[in-house]
Amino acid sequence: MKYPCNIILDLLPLYHDRVCSQESADAVKEHLNECKSCQAYYENLQTSYSLPMEHSIREEEMQKAASLKAIKKKLFCRRILTAVLSVVIVISLTFAALLYMKNTKILIEYQDNIQVFQKDGDIIARLSGNTYQQANSILVTLNKNGQTENIMYFKFFTTLWEDKIASDSKTFSEYVLAYKEKGAEEIDQIYYFTGDFNGLENLSAEELIKETIGSVQLWSK
Ligand SMILES: [Zn+2]
Repeated sequence: MKYPCNIILDLLPLYHDRVCSQESADAVKEHLNECKSCQAYYENLQTSYSLPMEHSIREEEMQKAASLKAIKKKLFCRRILTAVLSVVIVISLTFAALLYMKNTKILIEYQDNIQVFQKDGDIIARLSGNTYQQANSILVTLNKNGQTENIMYFKFFTTLWEDKIASDSKTFSEYVLAYKEKGAEEIDQIYYFTGDFNGLENLSAEELIKETIGSVQLWSK
């Protein structure tokens, strides 16, 4: 034996952990082959060492696995939260856009899409391809060379929603301009006029013609 047992015994823990030099390892190996008592000590060392070592490795792995699981769970939660938030944002934006489109009024310009006709004594305006959301009308009485003339002006409003989304060439909506019982017979002319109705009833014949330039005559007695 090259080395005494006490040196080998000092080296055994290092040898077991494989942290000693190759030379020391060779010396220990050689000694163990020849020395029964050191061999027995080494075997004892292996069983007593390996258990806690394995145990601690397993624990470390379990901890790693647990932290990995926790990270995965965190990521999953974050992903769910992001998805839910996105859905909420999309729904809110859609709702806001819808509300805006339903509430934004648009004046309907005349484009051969409005007719006026009499039906059972009532005078009716029909809007084709759209649904009106509001109708304004004003009746003006004019004195012309001693004769009075009753002229009605009207205009339709729709919403951005009806105009952009719901409009359909097959649809139409009707508005009663004057009922038979409420003086429909006394109306002489009806115009579609998209200008300002304020003060129209107080204008002279000349002023009225000037003011209502661009109006479209749709009906006369
Ligand atoms: Zn020995």
